[in-house]
Amino acid sequence: MATCYLCKSELSGTNESKEHIFLNAIGGRLGTKTILCRECNSSFGEKPDAELAKQLNFVSNMLNIRRERGTPPDIRGTLKSTGEQYLVSPEGKPALAKPSFEKTVEGETTVYQIKVRSHDELRKTMEGLKRHHPDINVDEIVNNAKMQTEPLSEMLHFQLVIGGSLALRSICKTAVNFYLFKGGEVKHIAHVIPYLKEETNLEIVNQYLDDSRIKTEATSSVSHSIFIIGDPKERILYTYIEFFSAFSFIVRLSTEYDGPAITESYSYDVLNEVETPTATINPIEPEFVRTYDYRRASLNFSKLTERLSAVLKIAVGRQLNNHAGSITKDAIANSLGKYPEGTVITEAMADELVAEMMKRIEPIIRRNLSD
Ligand SMILES: [Zn+2]
Repeated sequence: MATCYLCKSELSGTNESKEHIFLNAIGGRLGTKTILCRECNSSFGEKPDAELAKQLNFVSNMLNIRRERGTPPDIRGTLKSTGEQYLVSPEGKPALAKPSFEKTVEGETTVYQIKVRSHDELRKTMEGLKRHHPDINVDEIVNNAKMQTEPLSEMLHFQLVIGGSLALRSICKTAVNFYLFKGGEVKHIAHVIPYLKEETNLEIVNQYLDDSRIKTEATSSVSHSIFIIGDPKERILYTYIEFFSAFSFIVRLSTEYDGPAITESYSYDVLNEVETPTATINPIEPEFVRTYDYRRASLNFSKLTERLSAVLKIAVGRQLNNHAGSITKDAIANSLGKYPEGTVITEAMADELVAEMMKRIEPIIRRNLSD
């Protein structure tokens, strides 16, 4: 009978649950009911998985990916000039993150400048004000208020953070899930289990931002990909994982591997929602996997920028096609605004637009074991 690899309880109809190899939150579909119990699945989901999902949400949101459950949450952007925060929906529509409220006193007159997102919010704000100014006619103000949509005067800035001990554990779990899903045995990775349970620290997961090590047949899409290699001669067991064809990681599962030789791969195209056959795998040299510095983040920003630009270009194309993307519209105003209206957008212009957007993303590759 199958057992949960975290708590060792036997899995049955009452405690089994579908464990996603790649998180549902980032559009993952492949799953299995034979590796984790419901309790471990949900407790892992609350912390490490939630953290990784939050970090990758910028891309999930920009691509408006479809998930088995729920839609990607809004992303938070900042206007540099005012510090005002906006939430952007997966359709690309920005809205004020919270109502803004400014009070200035000029002699006998107090002026309130209020920005709200709905009539309800206006009513609440006015009712609050009425406590200090009893003669305010809340109904009249609310009934006469007209909601307006105004274009953003500048592009929003976004922060992209990847790393930290929780997110890295979630990435390690993806590696372990895939290994066990493909028939691997827990005994070969037993030392990793306490790490996943946050009982120990291991230095076995790190970003690996080099040329992609896995190619699929869907080259112009965005995929989550993974391959695992078990090599008993080299005594090594590791996985290479790519999220959204952009963020890639090595997970070193064992340096004492003596099980059968394994080479398995999987790619899932998150835009077309299909599994895509792997075209080629380019294994990483065993010595590199053994001796890679897993303690420090590798800071290959140019590679990350190159990959993110490619993904963003696809996102922009989708938003243009959907005619819904206000992010794109604002970006156009700031970059393509110089072209006359009706100009057909060329490849070069799209590149310019993406470059404008990339300037407003601040990536932080974080490696923090104390958090
Ligand atoms: Zn369990």
